[in-house]
Amino acid sequence: MPTALVTGASQGIGACIAKRLAKDGFDIAVNYYPSEGDKAKAAEVAEECRALGVKAEIFPADVSKMADCEAMVKAVKETFGTIEALVNNAGITKDKLLARMSEDEYDAVIAVNQKSVFNMLKHTCPIMMKQKFGRIVNVASVAGLYGNPGQINYSASKAAMIGMTKTIAKEYGKKNITCNAVAPGLIRTPMTDVLSDELKARMLEVVAMKRYGEPEEIASVVSFLVSDDASYVTGQVIEISGGISM
Ligand code: NAP
Repeated sequence: MPTALVTGASQGIGACIAKRLAKDGFDIAVNYYPSEGDKAKAAEVAEECRALGVKAEIFPADVSKMADCEAMVKAVKETFGTIEALVNNAGITKDKLLARMSEDEYDAVIAVNQKSVFNMLKHTCPIMMKQKFGRIVNVASVAGLYGNPGQINYSASKAAMIGMTKTIAKEYGKKNITCNAVAPGLIRTPMTDVLSDELKARMLEVVAMKRYGEPEEIASVVSFLVSDDASYVTGQVIEISGGISM
């Protein structure tokens, strides 16, 4: 069975991707941020994956830390033997207008959303290169495509992920490794649950379909990108936003 490693998979979009790829027949490595709460949630996700008939294990790592990523990738390789698919999903927001944003708030978002992708690629690509097969999907955002007031840190990190996606596609294409990004719009997850009703209503005004997306609607596109049906698709960004005009 092929193995998929999904970062930040204890809840939200990451948990949904893990379960969808389990349904597709991947053994699943569920990464979670090292905390007791996240461990319990990740264990539930792994249990739900196993119920679909595949192997699934949980792996703690703060993906903003290079050493954590190195140890996690090593542990996943030892547990499953291979890593065919990597989904860089872990992400955070610390929204403020530039005038109020601190340097720490800027650096924290860049570390978790952007540097983490470098950390994970650094340790996963050599494995994929040796096996001459790999499918990488980076979970970016429409904020990385269009910018968004109050998100200079977040939109910078997501735009960087798109640049990294296109670069890795070019560096590793000849090794049969594809690298693509998805750019979700407004998706119903714990990340967006905390927004005020007024802000949610205002944001929906710019969505053609006038509704939030569901995590399953991101997972289905990721499922396609790691499947044989997408074997000649690389370096692309697929927007999944219900038609947003930002
Ligand atoms: P979420 O519910 O907050 O899930 C994010 C997950 O990443 C959480 O499990 C979180 O753990 C984990 N995480 C955070 N920092 C981490 C770290 N340093 N190491 C390992 N894991 C870490 O958010 P979501 O909405 O599902 O978002 C998933 C991805 O989609 C993110 O990259 C986000 O930027 C992107 N996205 C979301 C939306 C949306 O509307 N929801 C739109 C566009 C893009 P903790 O709970 O402990 O922080």
